Amino acid sequence: MRLAMIGFGQAGGKVLDAFLEYDRRTGSNLVRAALAVNTARADLMGLEYVPEDRRVLIGQSRVKGHGVGADNELGAEVAEEDIDEVMGALDDVPVHEVDAFLVVAGLGGGSGSGGGPVLARHLKRIYTEPVYALGVLPSAEEGGIYTLNAARSFETYVRETDHLLVFDNDAWRRSGESVQSGYDGINEEIVRRFGLLFGAGEVEAGGEVAESVVDSSEIINTLAGGGVSTVGYATEEVERPDAGLLSRLRGAEAEDLDPASTTNRITSLVRRAALGRLTLPCELEGTERALLVLSGPPRYLNRKGIERGRTWLEEETGSMEVRGGDYPRRDAAEVSAVVLLSGVTRVERIKDLQRVAIEAQENIEDIRARSDANLHSLVEEDAEELEPLF
Ligand code: GDP
Repeated sequence: MRLAMIGFGQAGGKVLDAFLEYDRRTGSNLVRAALAVNTARADLMGLEYVPEDRRVLIGQSRVKGHGVGADNELGAEVAEEDIDEVMGALDDVPVHEVDAFLVVAGLGGGSGSGGGPVLARHLKRIYTEPVYALGVLPSAEEGGIYTLNAARSFETYVRETDHLLVFDNDAWRRSGESVQSGYDGINEEIVRRFGLLFGAGEVEAGGEVAESVVDSSEIINTLAGGGVSTVGYATEEVERPDAGLLSRLRGAEAEDLDPASTTNRITSLVRRAALGRLTLPCELEGTERALLVLSGPPRYLNRKGIERGRTWLEEETGSMEVRGGDYPRRDAAEVSAVVLLSGVTRVERIKDLQRVAIEAQENIEDIRARSDANLHSLVEEDAEELEPLF
């Protein structure tokens, strides 16, 4: 699937950067057009793979290149004010070469959290291609304001995009490691999953022709109808074709792979992907649609495995709309399963996020309401006999 990818804010920019690095490393050519947008000059300068002429600094007259300080209402305002600049930078995107737009952002901050939905709204108005977002939830330890930002942004992204794919930093925090120091590792995990998902359906002419290759229209149909998605992933190393000299000498050629064990490997990968750690933890039951992508060297993929995996997913999700197919990668050293669960409804994590956000909002309102009185009692009450200077 060919994407126009816009990284909004710091997290968005860094994840976009990681996608560009992935494209370069794997030859995926997933990101056909890239744009990084931010209110903070330093964050844009820190990017490595996004070309300099594909970076847009907005809000200079308001925040002078210093960012919006986790104020996502300001992030939204500034994006609206400078939207022409952002849309102008997307003018030369070869839209006929692009299947969808993907806005990437951290939901807990200010620029991407507030500005991303504004951009999505304008993109949807102008282009006929679907506009998706990849939203990163803050870790719970980041505190109330980030949670409040994320809950409000989440709701707005769902309304303004054709689909919100979610990645939860909290689920990926390794014990003993602060999230900050772990971002590079977390971003790799993001790109590994979404790179395989969106990379499917993009088998170039002259590339591998597998039994049932996933087409980008299947990704689009799985995401149709809006809502929220999560992704599962599992992988297993296999012998690379060129590393299999010994096997070949022993006569164990491709055709000799036992089909039953190939099928079993696939079905067990599908289970591990769906039951393991999802990008947004949730219950499988109640999922509206799903897509299964099996990736690896063609000789390790077979139709029967995918059929079994799909049937199992139908049972687990209760959905009859489960698509599936191959993403052949001849040089891969592993077989991987990616499961996209689309239109998930039973998501305790989102309910928790909203609960904490409401508490934070009440607390902030409460403190604001008392603030004038408190300041008065601190500064003036006991100092009535003192005169201010002027
Ligand atoms: P913005 O620049 O104002 O849009 O805000 P940030 O992107 O800096 O931060 C928003 C949230 O994104 C933070 O609360 C973190 O949860 C998260 N975040 C920041 N940087 C990264 C990153 O590189 N990777 C990931 N996965 N999350 C990040």
